Amino acid sequence: MEFPKELIELAKRRIEPYDVEGFVLGGGNPQADLMMIGEAPGENEVIEGKPFIGRAGKELDGYFQAIGIPREEAYVTSVVRSRPYKIVTTQKRGVPFTRKANRKPNKLEVFAHAPILDHQIEMIQPQIIVALGGVALQRLIGGSGKISECHGEPIISSIQKLKSFEENKWVWSEKEYVIFPMYHPAAVFYNPKVRSEIEADLSKMKDYMENFNR
Ligand code: URA
Repeated sequence: MEFPKELIELAKRRIEPYDVEGFVLGGGNPQADLMMIGEAPGENEVIEGKPFIGRAGKELDGYFQAIGIPREEAYVTSVVRSRPYKIVTTQKRGVPFTRKANRKPNKLEVFAHAPILDHQIEMIQPQIIVALGGVALQRLIGGSGKISECHGEPIISSIQKLKSFEENKWVWSEKEYVIFPMYHPAAVFYNPKVRSEIEADLSKMKDYMENFNR
């Protein structure tokens, strides 16, 4: 997808004050009917500059297999383009050492990169947007909705867009979109029990998409 350079520079500038590293724009088919939106890239993604290529990416590949759509046909992106990290100190054989650990993006980081996601949605006009996890869901439809309470059921709604580059406020899109809330692919690492729920949701999503295109 052609991407205005100024928008990328702006997003990078807006996120500079925070503890983040790297920049991953997203990738896939610019004419996709299906858009998958994650939270933020992790360590591997920022090294390679590609979305969902690490452990969570392998799980996401399984989502595509289950719904019977090649990943290249969809567009895969995230709410924040850089990896939010925190420095943690742990012990390795009694020796303390520090490393960067992933963390959830905060509100200001979400605002900082909002123009990029707004632009991608505007350009692609996907028929279905899959919100992978709570950060993506809340970015799109506001509120404090939990994935555990709404996963697997499509929501038809306007979505939030950044009001202006000067003001961190949301405005609603005129258009309504189909949002499909799903567990983030990394959810199974913390709670293996959600795997069966994810499988059921993917099966519902497959049916939904087949009927959608009829
Ligand atoms: N999680 C995300 O939300 N995006 C990635 O690219 C990787 C992990």
